[in-house]
Amino acid sequence: MTPTGTVENPLRVAIVGSGPAGFYAAGALLKSKSHPDLCVQVDMYDRLPTPWGLVRGGVAPDHPNIKAVSRVYEKTAAHPGFRFYGNVEYGRDVLHDDLVGRYHALVYAVGSQTDRRMGIPGEDLPGSWAATEFVAWYNGHPDYRDLEFDLSPERAVVVGNGNVATDVARMLALTGDELATTDVADHALEVLAESQVREIVVLGRRGPAQVAFTNPELLELGEMTDADVFVDPKDVELDPLSKAFLESEAASMTAKKNVDILTGYAAREPTGKRRRIVLRFLVSPVEILGEDRVEGIRIRHNELVEDESGSIRARPTDAVEEFECGLVFRSIGYRATPVEGLPFDDRRCVIPNEGGRVLDSRRPLTGEYVVGWIKRGPTGIIGTNKRDAQETVEHLLEDLDAGRLPDPADPDRDSLEALLAERCPEHVTYAGWEAIDRAEKAGGEPRGRPRVKLCSFEELLDAAHDRVS
Ligand SMILES: Cc1cc2nc3c(=O)[nH]c(=O)nc-3n(C[C@H](O)[C@H](O)[C@H](O)COP(=O)(O)OP(=O)(O)OC[C@H]3O[C@@H](n4cnc5c(N)ncnc54)[C@H](O)[C@@H]3O)c2cc1C
Repeated sequence: MTPTGTVENPLRVAIVGSGPAGFYAAGALLKSKSHPDLCVQVDMYDRLPTPWGLVRGGVAPDHPNIKAVSRVYEKTAAHPGFRFYGNVEYGRDVLHDDLVGRYHALVYAVGSQTDRRMGIPGEDLPGSWAATEFVAWYNGHPDYRDLEFDLSPERAVVVGNGNVATDVARMLALTGDELATTDVADHALEVLAESQVREIVVLGRRGPAQVAFTNPELLELGEMTDADVFVDPKDVELDPLSKAFLESEAASMTAKKNVDILTGYAAREPTGKRRRIVLRFLVSPVEILGEDRVEGIRIRHNELVEDESGSIRARPTDAVEEFECGLVFRSIGYRATPVEGLPFDDRRCVIPNEGGRVLDSRRPLTGEYVVGWIKRGPTGIIGTNKRDAQETVEHLLEDLDAGRLPDPADPDRDSLEALLAERCPEHVTYAGWEAIDRAEKAGGEPRGRPRVKLCSFEELLDAAHDRVS
């Protein structure tokens, strides 16, 4: 048998998911430094007709520099060993057995597709949303384009102290003119530009020293054109535990700087801007109030305690408070869902793995790997996925060298194309995505926007297949 990884018998790898993790894995395989002569074919699948995962569907529209990371992925896609199959959903259009029979290795890069719930009364009232929904809607994700956000209430609450919460707060605070220069979805631009929201209250369960914001994102909240940031000086008076933590070696520069930024905000006087962003700490929502829709929120005040492991956590006190609001966005984390044909860790919401090798009952499953959020959970910035994917690919190549990768029964690319032609004739190749990209950019150009996103499967597929819609 010809060795795997040669021109006669290329290493065939399927990557499911075309977000950052999938692309970094593809790049590491196609340009492996440890195996420079390896001949690799990577086929990448995505359920959407468009690639880039959360770089397109998560990163905020007013952060075009961050979205520019897709240029790195474009270089990977230009490699002759790379193919893209969009609009193909793993678990629906192609199944585990279809891929196992056609590839030496499968790499799952499906991310975390849903949100975590708060589990409090009123969470399902109209006006209470997951940040996931709002983010996907304003970014033009085709599954979410028909959601209807009523932004007529004057006060919105954002629950959570991570960067997604800052994105949501910023998107509610940006002016229509500012939004109009971005790639925000047209349907969202219309609604956001007419928004009546005047106050955005961001709730953190712990204190200023424990927030998960990164410094630039927290600083941005203080630099909004038409929104003042407000922090109650009492909220930045540190408790003894937080003080000791910040003075210890365990405290990161980010945490120290966050406290400085928040202290600076507490000293600011309002400048009379049209909106305000209020950052509150040591509070947790306990109930969303309202009969037929969100009318208010009840929050409980917390205090900080050290648990057995030495971590500082929030403990509820007896103090409760209620205030009016018409919108609640929970931004308390993303959550992965089980993937067809694979084990799933329900507690951590990841596919169990060791360094990216999928584990079943603690034993590695031959030829099956994970990268990105489905591997380690929904944390880290885009760049974190690069190191993470490199680790997985190193292990995959170690398995190749050790002869542990099974030969697929049907490694012929034509057989795959035949399967796709039958199962999903509307699949989108990389050339199809480039046609979408061109159409979106052409739509944006006369309006001085980077692109006007096509937001329905129909529009996307028409553009990909060069049909007039
Ligand atoms: C709202 C938000 C904003 C963010 N902003 C920033 C930022 O500004 N800067 C930064 O550095 N990081 C940011 N991040 C983090 C960053 O986006 C993630 O680290 C990164 O996207 C995770 O990559 P991934 O490839 O694991 O998952 P994803 O990016 O989610 O990619 C997963 C891909 O898999 C596809 N998929 C899922 N299921 C299937 C299936 N069954 N079949 C086929 N395909 C499937 C999806 O369509 C998607 O394309 C943000 C995250 C969020 C949620």
